[in-house]
Amino acid sequence: MPELPDVEIFRQEADKALDSVVESVDTTDTGFVDAAKNGLTRHLPGNKLKKTLRRGKYLFLFTEKKYAVAMHFGMTGYLQYANKKSETPKYVKCIFDLDNDHRLFYVSKRKLGSIEITGNVDEFIRYHDIGPDALEIGEKDFMDAIKNSRSGIKSFLTNQSLISGIGNIYADEILFQARIHPKQPTGRLKEPQIKDIYEQMVRVLETAIEKHADTDKFPDTFLLPRRKEGEECPSCGGEIEKIRISGRTGYYCPDCQSKSE
Ligand SMILES: [Zn+2]
Repeated sequence: MPELPDVEIFRQEADKALDSVVESVDTTDTGFVDAAKNGLTRHLPGNKLKKTLRRGKYLFLFTEKKYAVAMHFGMTGYLQYANKKSETPKYVKCIFDLDNDHRLFYVSKRKLGSIEITGNVDEFIRYHDIGPDALEIGEKDFMDAIKNSRSGIKSFLTNQSLISGIGNIYADEILFQARIHPKQPTGRLKEPQIKDIYEQMVRVLETAIEKHADTDKFPDTFLLPRRKEGEECPSCGGEIEKIRISGRTGYYCPDCQSKSE
């Protein structure tokens, strides 16, 4: 499932389309998005793409006029910028035809995710309750948010209205790097631990972006390349274990990430 680093890579892909004019929008699967109904075909053609913005797992493409496209990638979505002569990817859901001999494809095998048009991105963010971006939030605001929450630390990190962009996968890596148990109640975290979680969050996300969100290229000290039950912990050599939190399966090292009282 695309998380902050993945969506940042899609944003970089969308940047290639900037300063070109959208000629037409074609949705291939009206069960997923109906471009005529949701205003994409009314507000985009003839407009130049001017700016991209990522907030959490959302990507916004601003036109030179009032409207912006808001994208969410669900479980399997991604963006691809390609020459018009190249083949249309399988599972394409939406095609943005550009005036520079290129196309921008929104591709997704599954129907989750969304493409919407909005006249006000700030309002869109408020309406969808998208919290501050994990790479934008300052250390003080992060600490205040943790202190105000009453949950386990992993549930906190993946709550998109408190802090946006982190999902099941990157939360596991951040907590592994900080050596914190995923179920550790936020109320029992000490200040140096919270500071460390913040620092690891920034480091993990920035490293992932630098490595193009390709876990095979992640450093040897990272959990993600071996995020599987029974795998060897890259730090202590112990066994990685599975843990269920709010119905989702995560992974951690019980030796490195013990729960403190
Ligand atoms: Zn370990």
